[in-house]
Amino acid sequence: MTDTDKPMFPLSRRGFLYGAGSGVVSATLAGRAVAQDAQVPIEPVGRPMPELRAEPPIDPERRVGYAIVGLGQYALNQIMPSFGETRYSRITALVSGDREKAEEVARMYGIDPENIYNYDNMEEMAQKEAIDAVYIITPPAFHAEQSIVSSRAGKHVMCEKPMAMDAQECRAMIDAAEEANRLLMIGYRSQYEPHNLEAIERIRNGELGDVRIVHTENSYINDPETPAGEWRIQRSLAGGGSLYDIGIYGVQGARYLLGEEPIEVMAQEHTPEEGFGDVEDVVTWQFRFASGVRAVGSTSFSTEANRFGVSGTEGYLELQPATDYYGHRLTLRDEDGTREVDIDTQGPSQFARQLDHLSEAILNGGTVATPGEEGMQDIRIMQAIYESVRTGQPVPIDWAYGEAD
Ligand code: NDP
Repeated sequence: MTDTDKPMFPLSRRGFLYGAGSGVVSATLAGRAVAQDAQVPIEPVGRPMPELRAEPPIDPERRVGYAIVGLGQYALNQIMPSFGETRYSRITALVSGDREKAEEVARMYGIDPENIYNYDNMEEMAQKEAIDAVYIITPPAFHAEQSIVSSRAGKHVMCEKPMAMDAQECRAMIDAAEEANRLLMIGYRSQYEPHNLEAIERIRNGELGDVRIVHTENSYINDPETPAGEWRIQRSLAGGGSLYDIGIYGVQGARYLLGEEPIEVMAQEHTPEEGFGDVEDVVTWQFRFASGVRAVGSTSFSTEANRFGVSGTEGYLELQPATDYYGHRLTLRDEDGTREVDIDTQGPSQFARQLDHLSEAILNGGTVATPGEEGMQDIRIMQAIYESVRTGQPVPIDWAYGEAD
């Protein structure tokens, strides 16, 4: 640099203002004393890597690439934004019946528009190496066909609840995945949620003594005027009503909280005439387990409740809300009184944990905690609930699911 090139003010604006040009701060900075020997550059420069408080994602090329099928409210508001919290997962493709919407979503997420498919050309995903897995988030009537097509295209499948319309469809999905040597997982997010996992652990550890009764209540007010509420009251699309849509959480919950399968069910239904299409509103049921435990469940499309309660000889545990998206609370009641259990909720959401669970299994060649068989078990049990409603009789459901052959 020649003399004529020299700037009029040899110090940067910051250096000039703070009266230091040597790279060593010696005055006060914004009113705070700064050590004479602090080696903090006063120019805007890069600094060393800070301590990372969360595990960073792995290299994008190595992350499991997902095609999202069905760009509705759950896909766009919960699942897709959660990919940002995952370590092993990324979105590489979209499947939608609405090309314009899909292109807009592709722009939002930086997805190559070449990787947008529709419901009639999903088998072409077989050609795309960037798609490892397919996440099906459409109404239940389409789950079986979309899952089978995806398995046959060589893709792993995550399928939303309820798994399918009936047990035959579930069986066909499981068989297709097995034949393709690919994983099939059901999006049972509550089984990856920390409060639910803590409850399971405490019950297994015997903190409640002998468990005698489980209560589950899972309901919400369905608005049939909305696009997402419309199909939910059409049996031909939804498979069932409140039971299939939200009561399923209680069916699942009773099973995973107890770690035992019900052997008999007795159920009732009550549906006012208006506003529920051709599906049910209120369903109540009682499960009998081989151990003698009873689980009482209820669901509806016309009330708001979300709670699990587990009563044992030495204590009572309540999850409320039990299966919401956020804000779970776990309360314990025993001889020491009633108190809320403090649970670390830092870290990825249940949605991200669920996604990475499948991705890790794919990357490591492992299995998943909520495979197709889990989804099929719930469908079979819910069908038995409907049968009991129809006949007014207890229905045996002791088909030894999960027991070694
Ligand atoms: P939406 O109605 O909001 O979205 C469904 C999407 O499926 C539509 O946007 C559409 O996508 C596609 N679709 C294709 N054919 C049809 C059709 N005939 N009628 C309606 N939609 C169609 O539903 P949700 O997102 O609420 O639910 C989708 C799935 O996710 C269901 O299985 C539901 O049970 C499950 N779910 C799970 C939750 C959980 O917490 N695990 C929470 C909410 C839902 P496009 O326009 O792109 O073609």
